[in-house]
Amino acid sequence: MKFNPKARLDRSQMRKRGRGGSSGGGGFQMPSGRGSGRGMPIPMGGGVVGLILVIVLFLVVTRFGSDLSGGSDTSQNAGTTDEGGQTTCESGADANERRECALLATVNSVQDYWGDALPDQGDVDYEQAQWQDFSGTLSTGCGQASSATGPFYCPVDKGVYLDQSFFDDMLEGQLGAKGGDFAESYVVAHEYGHHVQDLLGTLSKYQSRETGPTSPSVRIELQADCYAGLWAQAATTTKDSNGEVFITDITQTDIGEAIDAATAVGDDKIQRQTSGRVNPEQWTHGSAEERVRWFMTGFDSGRLDDCDTFSTDHL
Ligand SMILES: [Zn+2]
Repeated sequence: MKFNPKARLDRSQMRKRGRGGSSGGGGFQMPSGRGSGRGMPIPMGGGVVGLILVIVLFLVVTRFGSDLSGGSDTSQNAGTTDEGGQTTCESGADANERRECALLATVNSVQDYWGDALPDQGDVDYEQAQWQDFSGTLSTGCGQASSATGPFYCPVDKGVYLDQSFFDDMLEGQLGAKGGDFAESYVVAHEYGHHVQDLLGTLSKYQSRETGPTSPSVRIELQADCYAGLWAQAATTTKDSNGEVFITDITQTDIGEAIDAATAVGDDKIQRQTSGRVNPEQWTHGSAEERVRWFMTGFDSGRLDDCDTFSTDHL
């Protein structure tokens, strides 16, 4: 994956938050059957007292039961923050050098894609969602979050919450994915997929705490993977405000990174890793095979309609 050095990044699409906060005591427990959508916080039974969350998680990291934040900051992020919580990333050249800038460039690219694709294919105007980069703990429209929460989308405040330490600590750490730029782009595109679902009314329509291999939760998650694939297919055509493309090159190796990441976050894969056995009745995100297949469905087709995970028997 190569970013166009001449592309100008839109810094307003990112905000740094919660710097210097502590990681806050051992990672909170989140029930796997979390709700989503509708804009009304839903109290979660069985979790930390007072914790309310209405979010769509990239995966339920608290299955691992540990605080994964590794402190209040990572050295990679240090020194890249302007006063006022903005990034210093300016160009595609920066994106080729620094993770934070690569993530911002991806956010810019994903939002440029949906700015055209959503009205074209979904008859809905796209509204931008800001990437909330944070570390430590953070109060969000959906309740308190910490690094242990993992990436999530909050429909209440339309924020995509992504702590960069997730990639080292979880994706390439405990989950054992190979990682890489494009694996991280897949995570970003998946979260923005939830924002698109929110704009389309899908999140509120299928809000449910049910789990299981054909549950609404799994269908929502697989659709977000498919939406990530839609973006990936069109990624090299997305442009900045001057008409410069953001991304000049996506290779087979890049697609392989996304597939590897999608595999690593499959429910069956995670269950096998953590408990040694697979229990589909507790699935919330779908199996590794399903996640890869739906990502590739979007990538191969490029059509929003082909990501309809709600009216198929073959997930
Ligand atoms: Zn998700």
